[in-house]
Amino acid sequence: MAQFRDLTQPAGYRCPVERSLDTQVSQAVDAWLRWLPRWQPATHRGRVAPCRLCLGSPVLSAAGLGADVPHAVQHGLSVRVKTIVDRAVADYTSRNLPMLQAELDQQAARNRARSYRPAEDLDPEFEGLPLDPDPVPGAPFLFTLSGLAAEADADVPALPPLTEEAKAALRQEVGLADDYANMVGREICSVLLHHRLRIQTAVAEYVEPQISAMLEELTRSLDAPFDPGADGGFDGL
Ligand SMILES: [Zn+2]
Repeated sequence: MAQFRDLTQPAGYRCPVERSLDTQVSQAVDAWLRWLPRWQPATHRGRVAPCRLCLGSPVLSAAGLGADVPHAVQHGLSVRVKTIVDRAVADYTSRNLPMLQAELDQQAARNRARSYRPAEDLDPEFEGLPLDPDPVPGAPFLFTLSGLAAEADADVPALPPLTEEAKAALRQEVGLADDYANMVGREICSVLLHHRLRIQTAVAEYVEPQISAMLEELTRSLDAPFDPGADGGFDGL
């Protein structure tokens, strides 16, 4: 198997989890690099709320994708990396944390019973983003996808309440799962450092020229002579 080849390298011993993370991170970066040439600057109005996954993300710092890179470009990588962490934690939970696993199984069964699930099976670039655009003042939506999803959720009975004892035990297992997630996250960050160069090369090739073109376009339109006959909208200003 390819991921065992590095035993022959002088890098020293690395545990199997780390080796498998190496491969998964490499594949996630590959997938993001395949998607990146299709990225285009958004023409619609962006969301005002910051993204909880990307804002201040250590993963993005490790990847070298700073705040000067458009959010959609960052988000495509954040989500792919989060999937690796989620998968590792799910595996750890199923092997070591029986109470938490039982709770998650019940929640998953309840979720599957909902009649409308708009947040599922999205492409990584859209995962975790708000389902609806920001409301425009004075122009309320007739309905929103998140509103419809909440209605579908209310139709399914809630899970039975847990005893205090069960809650305490569950809380302890959630803490262990969090610790494991943090460990995996730190390991992924150190792996990502080795991919910075190809990530930055791709940003320079596919993202930066489009941003420069947008800025040039903006400068041209600001420099254009003002023609009051072309648009009456500025009358009285
Ligand atoms: Zn994001």
